[in-house]
Amino acid sequence: MSRVSFLEQVNRSFDRAAAISGHDPHLLAQIKGCNSVYRLTFPVKRDDGSIEVVQAWRAEHSHHKLPTKGGIRYSLMVNEDEVMALAALMTYKCAIVDVPFGGAKGGIRIDRRQYSLAELERITRRYTFELVKKLFIGPGVDVPAPDYGTGPTEMAWIVDTYKSLTGGGELNGEACVTGKPIAQGGIHGRLEATGRGVYFGIREACDIGEDMAALGLSKGLDGKRVVVQGLGNVGYHAARFLQQDGAVLVGLAEFEGAIASPAGLDLAQVVAHRRETGSILGFPGAVDLPESSAALELDCDILVPAALENQITGDNAGRIKARVIAEAANGPTTADADGILADRGIAVLPDLYLNAGGVTVSYFEWLKNLSHVRFGRMEKRFDEKAHRQLLAAVERTTGMSFSDQDMSLFASGADEEDLVNSGLEETMITALHQIREVQQRNGGNLDRRTAAFVNAIDKIVVCYEELGIFP
Ligand code: NAD
Repeated sequence: MSRVSFLEQVNRSFDRAAAISGHDPHLLAQIKGCNSVYRLTFPVKRDDGSIEVVQAWRAEHSHHKLPTKGGIRYSLMVNEDEVMALAALMTYKCAIVDVPFGGAKGGIRIDRRQYSLAELERITRRYTFELVKKLFIGPGVDVPAPDYGTGPTEMAWIVDTYKSLTGGGELNGEACVTGKPIAQGGIHGRLEATGRGVYFGIREACDIGEDMAALGLSKGLDGKRVVVQGLGNVGYHAARFLQQDGAVLVGLAEFEGAIASPAGLDLAQVVAHRRETGSILGFPGAVDLPESSAALELDCDILVPAALENQITGDNAGRIKARVIAEAANGPTTADADGILADRGIAVLPDLYLNAGGVTVSYFEWLKNLSHVRFGRMEKRFDEKAHRQLLAAVERTTGMSFSDQDMSLFASGADEEDLVNSGLEETMITALHQIREVQQRNGGNLDRRTAAFVNAIDKIVVCYEELGIFP
């Protein structure tokens, strides 16, 4: 484990980029600093009647755009440094994918497996209550989302608590949090959005032939050997989309251990096996690695850390065999490891770009909540009718006719999920090429993480320069 704190690592990356960005150092200092941190403790009644005091945080890193945005994490590792680091990453992430939010992050220091559902609900609602009291949540103020250890259920409790406290007059109350269940104002495609974005980012990177050649890899995702660490929301969906598009999952790791098979592991079968036996280990035909972290060192082309920070460190970076590290998790690579990987010519798709699919689709969900209408509702049927008329005209002109299958394929209008996925794909592709442009502007010498930070800093600087400083 690196001795440099997570926040210090994020700030080091910022400093490296800031030094070559050429902007006013005072403005850069303003961008780097965390605007506000709310540290709180509150009591929770356990099911047995005892009382436990819980520690929690919400950090808002940058108010240059409002609302601020960032997930809420439930983990025993949560601390102020981590929350501030993750909030800072959110600011830069939003800038990279042109999502008009400042960065924020929240965390509650609990191991969710030690609590009943009723206890988790009380913890989540009390935390929300405390955020409301201090104006750390609201559609135009600060909008949380799921992160490690949380999901749609917690987001539903948050929106219900918020709306209960703010009363019926809050027309846009649903937009106080994203990642909600569909019936509570969620959006189709949000659940898998981060994993899908990870897949789009990796696919696009693999499609750049010259970059792949420089790594000694062939162009394209097909046949790429992939190891995924963490089969939660992000890791599971990323692995699913990668496998669907021809990548071979040669290793999968969970907290209880890892499994490997050079011939490839069927994700659906592995997940079914884990559900049945309670462990990923013992999957038929695979080799067990009881030490989960050993999966990071497996022979593969692409390593996808999708669990937590500080996984690839100065200790193991020298033994990593992957040619590409695709950071689905936040902060999986320490600063020490970054240097070692760069020396070894291993490419990194950095977290602040690669896992930005979640916040991108959260932005779409927020827009949906503010407009109070599902994407595609107004135009889907109209588009279908127009397409059918056009196809009929083509049939009349050419004297040929489309099959029923082709007709419905060409004529169909886009529904909400189509639009969300299309917006996400466009965002991930555009952002990768913007980062590459920064690399090219600097003679190709910049690593992708530094280039991503430069890209974010440039955009935030423009915002500050145009806004000026109040008063
Ligand atoms: P999650 O709680 O759904 O899943 C995390 C998974 O990792 C769990 O299955 C857990 O058992 C596993 N895990 C924990 N420790 C492990 C270890 N040492 N080795 C292997 N597996 C381990 O969390 P998530 O939402 O998928 O988040 C994962 C990472 O992605 C975090 O860094 C988070 O900040 C980041 N992220 C999440 C989102 C999102 O939309 N959920 C968005 C951006 C970034």
